[in-house]
Amino acid sequence: MDEVARDALPVVVVGAGPVGLAAAAHLLERGLEPLVLEAGDGPGAAVRAWGHVRLFSPWRYDVDAAARRLLEATGWVAPDPDALPTGDELVRDYLAPLAATDALASRLRTGTRVVAVARDGADRTRSLGRDRRGYRVRTVTADGRVEDVRARAVLDASGTSGTPNPLGTSGLPAVGEEVAAPFLAGALPDVLGADRDRFAGRRTLVVGMGHSAANTLLALLELGEAVPHTAVTWAIRGGSPRRLFAGGADDELPARGLLGTRLRRALEAGRLTLVRRASIERLEPEGDLVRVLGTARDEVLDVRVHTVVNATGFRPDLAMLREVRLDLDPVVESPARLAVLIDPNHHSCGTVPPHGEALLSHPDDGFYLVGMKSYGRAPTFLLATGYEQVRSVAAALAGDRTAADRVALDLPATGVCSTDLAGDTDGTAGTAGAACCGGTAEPQLVTLGAGAPAGAGPTAGLGARLRVGVGVGAGIGVGVGVGFASGVPHGRSGDAADAGDDQR
Ligand SMILES: Cc1cc2nc3c(=O)[nH]c(=O)nc-3n(C[C@H](O)[C@H](O)[C@H](O)COP(=O)(O)OP(=O)(O)OC[C@H]3O[C@@H](n4cnc5c(N)ncnc54)[C@H](O)[C@@H]3O)c2cc1C
Repeated sequence: MDEVARDALPVVVVGAGPVGLAAAAHLLERGLEPLVLEAGDGPGAAVRAWGHVRLFSPWRYDVDAAARRLLEATGWVAPDPDALPTGDELVRDYLAPLAATDALASRLRTGTRVVAVARDGADRTRSLGRDRRGYRVRTVTADGRVEDVRARAVLDASGTSGTPNPLGTSGLPAVGEEVAAPFLAGALPDVLGADRDRFAGRRTLVVGMGHSAANTLLALLELGEAVPHTAVTWAIRGGSPRRLFAGGADDELPARGLLGTRLRRALEAGRLTLVRRASIERLEPEGDLVRVLGTARDEVLDVRVHTVVNATGFRPDLAMLREVRLDLDPVVESPARLAVLIDPNHHSCGTVPPHGEALLSHPDDGFYLVGMKSYGRAPTFLLATGYEQVRSVAAALAGDRTAADRVALDLPATGVCSTDLAGDTDGTAGTAGAACCGGTAEPQLVTLGAGAPAGAGPTAGLGARLRVGVGVGAGIGVGVGVGFASGVPHGRSGDAADAGDDQR
């Protein structure tokens, strides 16, 4: 394929989630032709799977700027910026209208799963003339037809929800996990709604220590108040669940603070059984129960439950990218240069500076992982971060290097590094905030006022006050130069207490 032909091809966006659709909006603004390929039957298919869960980010952080411009041209009125939507509301009030705009509707193919991406006419080993070639994207439609789509560039915004981590502590499925699949409910079952009968008056084991687990535990406790014999056991890999309680009354997003506080109180009141240092080795179905075997604090773990809620996090599907030359971090499985900013082993504060195309590029030019998938196995991804990623990538593809490198975020007026729990394996406080965030143990108060750099966004213009991990932000020398604290209030906990436990 020659260069002219490559430029005439569309930019394929894999996935019509929030970030994929935002990518399409930015590409259109840049005069590039997007083609969005979505496996589900409509936009936001992955979000709909947890549609009953309320986001912790209010609407002001959930809507991409280019998408908003597209929508407002149709008379769309943005929801209350301070309200917290559920996943279903995010789809109904934002993603569905966005996908239905004239500009995007004709450029979105639903029921189309991408199963492989390759350089067109060159397998992974072939270097000669590689840079001139576009991409070949293999798809399978809902009715089983295989079709190849050619693309000048590919943005993989397919998220990670299709590939949950297994229950086995080593990253491998526990023995018998596949056979026991009917007993696994996934990370976020609708305990008080559609899935109520599965849990009412029955025994459930929740595995994991992220906010998905917390949401499910609270729903199960609420169900238990209404239906007797609803029993809950909570298994965590670490020695303490304290990290999940961080924030509490100090959390500037009240809904999130309440989550941790309610869970802590329920635990203190003995309303659920906590199994610490759990390592699940084997699952054995026994009639309508599943027996879960392993160890807990070096003792034997042996429980029989009706359902296991496997809220153990997610990992990216890399099999479909086997023919693409990627530069991935061996630990996080994110783009290598991004990994140093998000690796939960080192970032107790979870502070993520704004970043764009320069950090997301791979040896194969024109291919990008964006959105949730760009974070690999790190659990701290935020929509606002993804929107900035795709703005920058679209600018780069359009040849506007200056705009691509001028990365910034509409920073929320909340945000504080969690410095008290890193290294805390048994609930004793540590001080790893200093270690992870480049030498600033205490978060710094920063006021972005009139002097804020161009592109710092409307929040900056309003003089929003932020507490940020200055070490990280200053270290990478990008745009605003301040970190986006996803550690506690606006983001999911990225602290390193019991490394990786947010996914357990
Ligand atoms: C319960 C929960 C609450 C969250 N709350 C917040 C919050 O409050 N604030 C915040 O900023 N972030 C939040 N997040 C994190 C994150 O912002 C969301 O997960 C968000 O949906 C990620 O967007 P995405 O577009 O990258 O991926 P997704 O939303 O996962 O979208 C990926 C899309 O790709 C499609 N797809 C997958 N594989 C393929 C394939 N092979 N071919 C074609 N299509 C494919 C999927 O069907 C899906 O539509 C939350 C996450 C969860 C799970």
